[in-house]
Amino acid sequence: MTYIKLKTYCVFWLLVSQLAFSSEFAQLKKIRYWSSDDYVRVVLYLDKETPHKLFRLKKEKVKESDRFVVDLYNTDVDVAVKDQTINKGFFKRIRFGKHDNQTLRVVLDLELFNSQSIQKFHEPYRIVLDFYKEAPAERAIREKLTEAQKMRDTLEPSPPPKKRSANMTTIVLDPGHGGRDPGTIGKNGTMEKDITLKIARKLKKLISEQLKINVVLTRNDDTYLDLEERTAIANEHNGDLFISIHLNSSPMANTTGIETFYLDLTTDRATRRLAARENLIQEKDIVDYFKLNLVKVSEANQSATFATDFHNGFVKTMDQKCETRDLGVKKALFYVLWGARMPSILTEVGFLSNKKEEKQFNNDAYLNSVCEAMTKSLKDYIKL
Ligand SMILES: [Zn+2]
Repeated sequence: MTYIKLKTYCVFWLLVSQLAFSSEFAQLKKIRYWSSDDYVRVVLYLDKETPHKLFRLKKEKVKESDRFVVDLYNTDVDVAVKDQTINKGFFKRIRFGKHDNQTLRVVLDLELFNSQSIQKFHEPYRIVLDFYKEAPAERAIREKLTEAQKMRDTLEPSPPPKKRSANMTTIVLDPGHGGRDPGTIGKNGTMEKDITLKIARKLKKLISEQLKINVVLTRNDDTYLDLEERTAIANEHNGDLFISIHLNSSPMANTTGIETFYLDLTTDRATRRLAARENLIQEKDIVDYFKLNLVKVSEANQSATFATDFHNGFVKTMDQKCETRDLGVKKALFYVLWGARMPSILTEVGFLSNKKEEKQFNNDAYLNSVCEAMTKSLKDYIKL
């Protein structure tokens, strides 16, 4: 082999090995976070799945702080992702560094936290990390214990049960779909994402006026939200109730009716398929979710009560205006409800696959009736 040939050969190999090297490596493309005083959600977006290790560094005795580490193997960081000082809620800082040639280390600086949960999703591949200062169930138990203690201390008769409205300050409305995700599409081209947004806006106005409760929308225009963004927004705003608004679809053109869901484990295949459609996540992610069993009983119970009361009131009022089929309250694994720290439901307010209903959903007066019925039901639920 001559010198020139050798040189060409070496350059060739260098190129090939670099190509192979770079194609093997995953890239951390983006991070996003939501943070309140007692809750932080951080999402790491990667261009492909990669092995990783997650661990909490031991609490530092002197400082009131925690560190959580994500080691991503065979991963590089995109130039756009930089260290950041955050200081929002109890999330202080995020840092990135090469732990060794193969490992990208992500360090989250937080105030002391009580619990965390981790979930992974595909398309795009992302790792969702939730941190809680105190798990809602633990907090509820502690508050109950404190109340019981207080009552024993003062020997006063027990106070009458509080009206729900006494504690209700914020309702979060989530217009389903948006942006590149149109949701279901009617035969005349009506897109679910447009109608859910219209309903959410009208509902916000009515609730603010009639119930004097602050309303937060997860989106107020035609933008795409990842599923974990929706409950993150609700948690960040300390929402007291969360309602995800959707329109249904059926292969049977005449199917009609209203159904409401709350989050719970279910093995019903039809419901799982519906959850996969609404969630736009892969079946294997749902199966992962089953294994994780993240839904706490007390949270599921609160959501079940809210779903039942809200649904029954809503259907009853609608039925007085026009014949409405009651499809009932069901449990399902809607990821959009996962991780919400408040009673949360998903309501399918009608069928876009039904031509008559599609026409109605394009009629402003009908949308007003839907929103008035929902507001009345909410008013009864919170006992105003
Ligand atoms: Zn939908």
